Amino acid sequence: MELATKMNEEENLDCIFCKIVNGDVPTELIAENEHAIAFLDLYPKAPVHILVVPKIHSDNILQLDNSSSLIGLFELIRKVAATKTDGQFKLQFNTGQREGQSVFHTHAHVLSEQSK
Ligand code: 5GP
Ligand code: ZN
Repeated sequence: MELATKMNEEENLDCIFCKIVNGDVPTELIAENEHAIAFLDLYPKAPVHILVVPKIHSDNILQLDNSSSLIGLFELIRKVAATKTDGQFKLQFNTGQREGQSVFHTHAHVLSEQSK
């Protein structure tokens, strides 16, 4: 799937997810809307493991204070969960190194034992 838009105006040049949003690093794209993209986690920890990522850079969910981006992010999370899982899933935002965050660009993990 090709990225439809390039709208990452607040790109962080050292950020791997900004590079994915910009199409500079290849990924298995699942879905996209104006404000967010969803792609497969490179090292899946469940049969379904999808990352949903706002297009604008922020370090974590506490730093993401753009209402449109937040709404777009959650709309895409709901779409991915509805179309790629059987309706049972975990939604996780690891926030801070101690709590398991390793990529410091806001992202939601959608994890499920069962795909649709
Ligand atoms: P965190 O540990 O920050 O909550 O989640 C980061 C996730 O990004 C991890 O599950 C890791 O497997 C995934 N990841 C790291 N680098 C890449 C990459 O280059 N491409 C993809 N698709 N996933 C990545
Ligand atoms: Zn970024």
